[in-house]
Amino acid sequence: MAGASEAGPAGAAPGWAPHVPDGVAFEPADLVSEGTLVAAWTARWRAEPDRPVLHIAAEGWIDAATLDAATAAAAAGWHALGVRAGDRVLVSGPNGLALVAAHVGALRLGAVVVPANGAYREPEVTHLVHDARPRAAAVADAAWPAWITAADPACAVHGLDVGVAAGDAGDAAAGGAADALVLDAAAPGDAAVIGYTSGTTGAPKGAVLSHANLLAGAASVRLAWRWTPADRLVLCLPMFHMHGLGVGLHGTLLAGASAVLLDGFSPDAVLDAVAAHDATLFFGVPTMYHRLAASPRAGELARLRLCVSGSAPLPAELHERLGAVAGVRVLERYGMTETVMLVSNPYDGERRAGSVGFALPGVELRLAAGTDEIEVRGPNVFAGYLDRPGATADAFSADGWFRTGDLGAFDPDGYLRIVGRAKDLIISGGFNVYPREVEDALAEHPALAEVAVVGRPSGEWGEEVVAHVVLVLGAEAPSLDELRA
Ligand code: AMP
Repeated sequence: MAGASEAGPAGAAPGWAPHVPDGVAFEPADLVSEGTLVAAWTARWRAEPDRPVLHIAAEGWIDAATLDAATAAAAAGWHALGVRAGDRVLVSGPNGLALVAAHVGALRLGAVVVPANGAYREPEVTHLVHDARPRAAAVADAAWPAWITAADPACAVHGLDVGVAAGDAGDAAAGGAADALVLDAAAPGDAAVIGYTSGTTGAPKGAVLSHANLLAGAASVRLAWRWTPADRLVLCLPMFHMHGLGVGLHGTLLAGASAVLLDGFSPDAVLDAVAAHDATLFFGVPTMYHRLAASPRAGELARLRLCVSGSAPLPAELHERLGAVAGVRVLERYGMTETVMLVSNPYDGERRAGSVGFALPGVELRLAAGTDEIEVRGPNVFAGYLDRPGATADAFSADGWFRTGDLGAFDPDGYLRIVGRAKDLIISGGFNVYPREVEDALAEHPALAEVAVVGRPSGEWGEEVVAHVVLVLGAEAPSLDELRA
């Protein structure tokens, strides 16, 4: 795109330079030097089998050797369900060992994981199954198997503890040597995860991310945030989203570090975990920071080495308030499903309120001439949407940069601000809400003639979803509860 301004204003430092750890000569190619996530992770596990990796309330600490075995068992379970390298699998459940094993086990088998939000009901599950056509599914919600089978009778549905399928399999996997279970053989360019995400037009589409994309996404923040094996993350973000999965889980395993998994967020649960396990890192969405700032225990956040915020804008006022009440300068970063992480405030140097900072190591950034849409490229950027050549073509500029749909502006010294969205999306509590989906649901109510859904600024949620409705002439007004249902 001629005339686009690359890497910030003239005279500013290269976008990624502020993130490179002192004394480390760095090339973007280094992000993917380990090839695949599973190659990197299993190398860490074999080097230090006794190292605690994940803490889960029900199980306590899981060490590297146990995780290696649990994920290999899950891979065997997927294989017994008929899944082979390149097949897609649907995974959904609460944060815990079974979810991690189902996800990592599928990657070790070379299968492609479609992570799904456990709050989905039948219409969303049906769309996901029709669109992604998974060979098998591992799901925790008891209502899902019937919905998945109705959408595709050929999909093999299992509980989240997919590893036990290997024991059930009997003769099912006895397909000869060509069909043997092979672990950790995926190539960097092979698809690894399909993240579902929407624009304003139509139903969610699947962003296909390769092993190399995911490795680059986790490696860039490892460098930028100085993530080391000594770090311990409190991870309460859901793992059906890039923030919890692509950064929280994948980053922990790549760094050879450890994480305390929580299934859901409350200020007390997070601060209790920080204290009980001497955690060093916390990643949250702005709504979580809003609640933490209001907690009488907010000062306990200062025990952490680093607090990161993302998925939605962190209000500058909240950023300053966290500094005042908790003594922490939260580090805000910017990413999305299609690209994992893109831009981050510096670890050293000013973490600027209202700004997302500089392009991460390996990521190139520019603002499109005329529109100021943020465009990016790098080893982290996905290749396209599943079976949607039109949407994929629209998502990239003529010269191959990914068009984020977000509008940006550079401060004079090169810090990036996100000033708006080209796409008409509401982000509430870090989750994307597509006005069109809410409008379509409300429009089914017989008493409503017209519906318009918009986002309204909210201190707590970032944005609240507000519906303006017009009643059918003479109809009795439905209650708010009825409309919410
Ligand atoms: P998702 O693909 O669900 O992760 O949503 C990605 C979108 O979230 C981006 O395109 C941005 O609009 C928004 N987003 C993520 N991080 C930030 C941030 N720090 N500030 C403002 N918007 C953000």
